Amino acid sequence: MSGNPALDLAGTVGFRRDDPVDMLATPADLERWVAACEGLPDRVSADSAAFESAVALREAVYRLALDRVLGRSFDPGSLKVVNDTAAGPVPAVELSDAGLRRSGDLRAVLAEVARSGIAVLADPDACFKECGRTRCTRVYLDRSRGARRTWCGMGECGNRVKAAAYRARRRASE
Ligand SMILES: [Zn+2]
Repeated sequence: MSGNPALDLAGTVGFRRDDPVDMLATPADLERWVAACEGLPDRVSADSAAFESAVALREAVYRLALDRVLGRSFDPGSLKVVNDTAAGPVPAVELSDAGLRRSGDLRAVLAEVARSGIAVLADPDACFKECGRTRCTRVYLDRSRGARRTWCGMGECGNRVKAAAYRARRRASE
């Protein structure tokens, strides 16, 4: 959605500034999120300690991404969380006629997510933006030509902003 698993993880809290909505409220939510995330193992089980680590990683990635949006220095505490998480073992990959299979526990998944976050946070050419929809606080990577993308994801925010603008025009012309 955002273009990066780490930023997708950070985006599992919406409307952070005034009315936060947490999509990963329980370890089961986290298991579903991992299964749905491309490039991560399909089946992991999350105990409460691993769940806490995932939430800590999420908040650290969000903070560092926001630091990039605002063009300020990285928050040292968040750097430590992301770097420590990335230092763990990563998922194993296995090739067969069926294709590529990834396996690993949640710690390995988090290490992989942290690494993907580091790769993009370190990229001086990556264009970090906060969604232009009022109150949506998601951070995404703008990979469009000329970096003209305005919303975190068309399905969620772009279409709603466009529909609201359309309704406003309709009302104005009535
Ligand atoms: Zn948005």
